[in-house]
Amino acid sequence: MRAAIVADIHSNLEAFQAVLDDVESRGGVDEVWCLGDLVGYGPNPREVIALLRQHPHVCIAGNHDLAATGKIDTSLFNPNAAAAAEWTRRQLTPQEVLFLNQLSLVTSKGDFTLAHGSPRDPIWEYLVSEGTALANLEHFQTRYLLVGHSHLPFVCYMDESSMKCAFKEFPVGEPVQLEEGRLVINPGGVGQPRDRDPTSSYAIYDGEQGTICHYRVPYDIPVTQEKMRQAGLPERLITRLSHGL
Ligand code: ZN
Repeated sequence: MRAAIVADIHSNLEAFQAVLDDVESRGGVDEVWCLGDLVGYGPNPREVIALLRQHPHVCIAGNHDLAATGKIDTSLFNPNAAAAAEWTRRQLTPQEVLFLNQLSLVTSKGDFTLAHGSPRDPIWEYLVSEGTALANLEHFQTRYLLVGHSHLPFVCYMDESSMKCAFKEFPVGEPVQLEEGRLVINPGGVGQPRDRDPTSSYAIYDGEQGTICHYRVPYDIPVTQEKMRQAGLPERLITRLSHGL
């Protein structure tokens, strides 16, 4: 089994297409595993949903997906994110709203649990510290956990016997061997990276090799930005794509 692990696509069609093209150039995958926030921020929510649905996939819900459908209140968002969520809501058809609303909050695939924020609080928690990583250990049963939400790629090595963990850089293009111990992995963001690298971030899991590998993919950022301007989306959301912030 090979799976492309993508998170936080955020209605960025150019980024998602570039990632899928990169996946094909690396021999393809059996499934796409999407860690939530398909929509929100970007200019192509409908096209991104359609593109995901063209591939065998599993997808869980993120906070922006549920804000776009009205399931969660945009008053919990910062003003730019709320404006983008409301714009997104106006674009979606009832079928697309239904698709987003039926997404699970947490799911599992083999040795992996998938959650947008964390298994403890799938919609809101940012799993970015040792404290939050350790607190989530008892909230998933599989060996490995995949999360998105922070748009920051990392591998967190957990040692259950000592209740210690260590966040490490997720090396690019160098397969990480999946170990006996438990891991939390964030593949970074496809459609709005925030680690000061504006290229799309994702990972490929290879079950036969027992590895997971991080990749970065450039995409045509100005095309996405121009569409966002045309749509009247907030300027700050447009400029941040150039900086990977
Ligand atoms: Zn996100």
